[in-house]
Amino acid sequence: MKHKKILFAGIIGLLLLAGCGAKKHDNSEAGDSEKLSVVATNSIIADMVKEVGKDQVSIHSIVPVGTDPHEYEPLPEDIKKASEAEIVFYNGLNLETGNGWFDKLMETAKKKENEDYFAVSKEVTPIHLSGNSKQEDPHAWLDISNGILYVRQIQAVLSEKDPDNKGNYAKNAEAYIQKLEELDASAKEEFADIPNEKKLLVTSEGAFKYFSKAYELTAAYIWEINTESQGTPEQMKQIVEKVRASKVPSLFVETSVDKRSMERLSKEVDLPIYSDLFTDSLAKKGETGDSYYSMMKWNLDKIHEGLMK
Ligand SMILES: [Zn+2]
Repeated sequence: MKHKKILFAGIIGLLLLAGCGAKKHDNSEAGDSEKLSVVATNSIIADMVKEVGKDQVSIHSIVPVGTDPHEYEPLPEDIKKASEAEIVFYNGLNLETGNGWFDKLMETAKKKENEDYFAVSKEVTPIHLSGNSKQEDPHAWLDISNGILYVRQIQAVLSEKDPDNKGNYAKNAEAYIQKLEELDASAKEEFADIPNEKKLLVTSEGAFKYFSKAYELTAAYIWEINTESQGTPEQMKQIVEKVRASKVPSLFVETSVDKRSMERLSKEVDLPIYSDLFTDSLAKKGETGDSYYSMMKWNLDKIHEGLMK
């Protein structure tokens, strides 16, 4: 008899457990619909949103990994996600303006600036394009201290739209920023060792102005921004002269550009392309450089190694 009671209690217990399991499953589904729906224009911004929002946000990133975000044609899915999103984050500073794709998308999705869509670069002090002093250079995130300003901006907007989770967003942002600050500080220490005559960072696009300012290098490039013609004879002539006037030991090429111009330059000046660098996109998921932290660590390590050759 006693034995039967125990068995009975056991069955009840199992049923309760099963019941709890089912209930939990329902809750997590309801939880999904309670998540803040966020759209980001590119993989770098999407990664920062994930770091701050963690489980409280669901995120759609528009421009695919490895693709140039300056000019883009949104897909039907992007339009649908942007229309439904509670928050859209974009870089600003003239990044998504190439063919006006972002403005058009926001118009189609009926979104308003600073109500529905927000520039993560809001607090950044812009550097302007050298050929056109009115146009801002978009690549602010390549200086980690600007990346931290992006994170703060994301934290502020998430907290405003979802005040119940304000504490979580603050906690996540603090931990993430501390990691980024440590990377930034150790890179600055390392870069001080590079001999001055080698402190020239040669890439295809002039995406490293903010980076070079932060880590005390000079940025040199074939073309200034991806929206202009790339690798014209005049551009090649200028960069060849600049490289020859320096003692720079290595060249670099970005993962999101056509590599042929840099390969031509490498032959012309007889210097190796030391490494790929990440500028406008993260790496594919699972590969080195698939997060903002990891892409910056890769860039800093490879540039340091290449210039110390
Ligand atoms: Zn770019």
